[in-house]
Amino acid sequence: MPSLRPKPALFNPFFRLTTSGRLRRTGAGGAMRAMDAAQVFDHESGASEEPDQRARLKIAIVGFGNFGQFLARTFAAQGHAIIGHSRSDHSAAARSLGAAFFRDPHDLCEQHPDVVVLCTSILSTEAVLRSLPLQRLRRSTLFVDVLSVKEFPKNLLLQFLPPDFDILCTHPMFGPESGKHGWSGLPFVYDKVRIGDSEDRTNRCRCFLDIFAREGCRVVEMSCTEHDENAAEIQFLTHTVGRLLAKLDLKPTPINTKGYETLLELVENTCSDSFDLYNGLFMYNNNSTELLERLELAFNSLRKELFGRLHVNLRKQLFQSPNGGSSHGAEEN
Ligand code: NAP
Repeated sequence: MPSLRPKPALFNPFFRLTTSGRLRRTGAGGAMRAMDAAQVFDHESGASEEPDQRARLKIAIVGFGNFGQFLARTFAAQGHAIIGHSRSDHSAAARSLGAAFFRDPHDLCEQHPDVVVLCTSILSTEAVLRSLPLQRLRRSTLFVDVLSVKEFPKNLLLQFLPPDFDILCTHPMFGPESGKHGWSGLPFVYDKVRIGDSEDRTNRCRCFLDIFAREGCRVVEMSCTEHDENAAEIQFLTHTVGRLLAKLDLKPTPINTKGYETLLELVENTCSDSFDLYNGLFMYNNNSTELLERLELAFNSLRKELFGRLHVNLRKQLFQSPNGGSSHGAEEN
């Protein structure tokens, strides 16, 4: 059965890559070829053309590493036009995804994307944001971040972006490992930090969020503050336990139990992410330090409980005479 998904934008009959690398919509003839045909979200010709939930966006992914490429695959599969930029040259990977890649951030911004998705490591976000020539973007550009912490990028984007830009802070709470078989049922959190009132701006934001809804994600609107409070437990704890277990160098055995297999999977899931990501979860979430302290207290309390019981048992054995009486008493006689 043929796939119902639209083709990636660069192979889409409604787009072509011009000699300057710009993505342009081709003749209007194709636009109505199918009932399902999406409308391109084209600001260049003025307002967006019939922006609806199926509008096609030109999405720039800044930070085209592990997670950036993972997102690009699905964005492209839904028919959006993807352009990428990163510190390293990922042009071959971009090509294989049907995306265009620009080494120079000026070239990227001159493509006038509808949406810029910040997908850099948490630690490098500020430097990357500073390196973008924002003046080359359209005044109405939607900035989205997908960082695993939320208060930090929210404050950064509010501080650095011109007031005309829209800001949507998001966190797809899954990755290349946990989302390798699809995104259905996986949580996606967002906070509309600053979205203009006009119809094209609200539609553009809705269109971006719709990517995740269409994949079946559990889409949750939540403030960045609330996200970080929850994420310290959900995410930082999970990654910490995974990385702690990795230090034990656990190996599969012929008698693995289900529980043990879960631990091995946790190690694999968490350690396949970069240490930068884990470090970012600690450094840029205020709640992580407290969580680490609680974890240490919990471990010490558990150990104390175990050793306390061991101590009681040992004492019993030490002070019990072979005939069941108190050895202490026997000595007195
Ligand atoms: P990451 O190690 O957090 O980030 C890698 C990306 O950051 C690469 O594109 C890399 O550029 C760029 N980068 C790192 N240091 C840089 C620097 N000094 N200057 C410029 N760029 C730099 O790994 P990731 O898994 O790809 O995550 C990317 C973002 O997505 C993070 O903010 C993370 O919190 C978020 N996220 C990840 C997951 C996940 O499961 N992996 C899930 C949800 C959200 P190069 O490509 O040029 O090396």
